[in-house]
Amino acid sequence: MGEDLKKIKERLPLLDYLRQQNWTARPAGHGPEFVGLCPLHPETRPSFYVNARKNLFYCHGCGQGGDLIRFVELSQHLSFRQSLTYLEQQSAPVDPAAVLGQASAFYQWQLERYPEPRRYLEQRGLRDSALIRELQIGYAPGGSLRRHLVAQGYSLDLLRRTGLVSSQGHDALYRRVIFPCYRDERIVNLYGRSTSGAFAHRFLPGSKGDLVAWESVRHFPSVILVEGMFDLAVLWQAGFRHATCSLGTHLTPGQFRQLCDRPRTVYLTFDDDTNGSGQQAAQALAHRLRAQGISTRRVLLPPGHDPNSFFVQGGDARQFHSFLEAAPL
Ligand SMILES: [Zn+2]
Repeated sequence: MGEDLKKIKERLPLLDYLRQQNWTARPAGHGPEFVGLCPLHPETRPSFYVNARKNLFYCHGCGQGGDLIRFVELSQHLSFRQSLTYLEQQSAPVDPAAVLGQASAFYQWQLERYPEPRRYLEQRGLRDSALIRELQIGYAPGGSLRRHLVAQGYSLDLLRRTGLVSSQGHDALYRRVIFPCYRDERIVNLYGRSTSGAFAHRFLPGSKGDLVAWESVRHFPSVILVEGMFDLAVLWQAGFRHATCSLGTHLTPGQFRQLCDRPRTVYLTFDDDTNGSGQQAAQALAHRLRAQGISTRRVLLPPGHDPNSFFVQGGDARQFHSFLEAAPL
């Protein structure tokens, strides 16, 4: 922590910080001292001194003094820890991955506390708690993330920009099972599946990221591509660890490039919807993949099923294996 503090103070001198906060001052004599009205207490005659060389302040009016961290503690009413986080944000370009990581950790912790999402996961056939942890599944109850992140020192403005908090200041995700979405091993989005039926699928603004767990799947000579996280989860649970997920039937250009990054066979396993949209998307994707030299097989599930519903309704690994073997080119 001492190192962090030193770096922050080097990056952001006290005088620069005060000026960013619209503190106006005049030189006090010929040295490195500046004087102005105290930002910490009401006054009409300047008694707040800053020594730019020592990076310290002292107010003769209210008697407060110290370094940059002390000033932030007093002016923002934050703890030492919170002040550090606050200053890291002020002095560095904001990294949304950090705040999304915090949000994801918070949601994983909430999953332990509410029975509703655990019942929902069970309904979707997900019982393996090690797998639930591995997929970093969380739960957004709504109404508590904002408070948690603001207490960590994240600004409301940043939370709005990431989309975690709405423009009205409310948690954007509520009563949803949450999956983090990664790109280059950093969280770039959160996918929320409603547990109450309304607006089933939700992402935060921005990219949905890479194919799920691509680093662990890409080494297999053949991969199973599914459209939903619960399809992926039950397949992994049944031992099909070479399954990945595109979070929808429409692949991003980055996801498409990943599937084509070496010769392999892709088993397209999209939903067998009644309107045929899943199978149409699979055909169109198969066409584009073959144009890149990737061989494709179209997995045909029993009518009306997706991999998730197939396993939930009692399907087993042996049967699913036979679908893979029978999949037409
Ligand atoms: Zn003062």
